[in-house]
Amino acid sequence: MSAPAVRIRGLRKSFGSATVLHGIDLDIAEGEVTVVIGPSGSGKSTLLRCVNHLERPDSGFVEVDGEVIGYHPTGGRLRERSPRDVARQRSRIGMVFQQFNLFGHRTAAQNVAEGPISAGASRADATATATALLDRVGLTGKDDAYPRQLSGGQQQRVAIARALAQQPRLILFDEPTSALDPELVGEVLGVIRDLAAERMTMLIVTHELGFAREVADTVVFVDDGRIVESGPADAVLTSPVHERTRAFLSAVL
Ligand code: ADP
Ligand code: MG
Repeated sequence: MSAPAVRIRGLRKSFGSATVLHGIDLDIAEGEVTVVIGPSGSGKSTLLRCVNHLERPDSGFVEVDGEVIGYHPTGGRLRERSPRDVARQRSRIGMVFQQFNLFGHRTAAQNVAEGPISAGASRADATATATALLDRVGLTGKDDAYPRQLSGGQQQRVAIARALAQQPRLILFDEPTSALDPELVGEVLGVIRDLAAERMTMLIVTHELGFAREVADTVVFVDDGRIVESGPADAVLTSPVHERTRAFLSAVL
């Protein structure tokens, strides 16, 4: 059994007097898909944002491939990494947001090529890679389209291609289909499904429970900043142990 790709231990985070994460422990094995479900405000986005250090945990840590994100562990204490070092760590952790977050004044290909270019790739190489990745997410020929010329589903697929361009070790998805019209949800889930089949390690927050059942190795139910229940997707979604999980599932379904 190899070490997990992601190891989260004792992760706590407060905003002012409000504690949003009360000590999260979670492992994600290499090549596995973990889906996080839970009510609005339960801390799901904060958890994802701590994984790539968009939020700094108050205590506890996130390790990806054995490296603590954002900190050097020195003699049992955590010392902050330099912004440059954090950027290096973050570059291998793709993140796909609910609102796509593309650069509106750049074409699809430029959005995808941006990361590799700032990491030192030549413009020609990065552009060729962008074309291939756009093709991979079903956007052949859309290289020169601006975000406003694309549907929400197409924009989200550009965002996924952009994440892939950095050859990520891990991709975080925060409700990737919540902002989409219903008829566009399937095309985005299809791309994520393909990545799961290719054994990309992923941590996905979604309310799409049918999709979760299909692609997740593990489903984690979070409520009020705590993991209430986690386990194989079928077990958690079909026969949850905890009353709070049951109540959530019956409200969502
Ligand atoms: P979820 O994604 O499960 O809906 P979030 O992680 O976004 O939950 O938020 C959890 C709680 O933390 C909410 O009460 C939210 O208002 C609060 N919160 C999130 N980010 C911030 C912030 N930057 N400043 C203050 N409060 C925040
Ligand atoms: Mg959220």
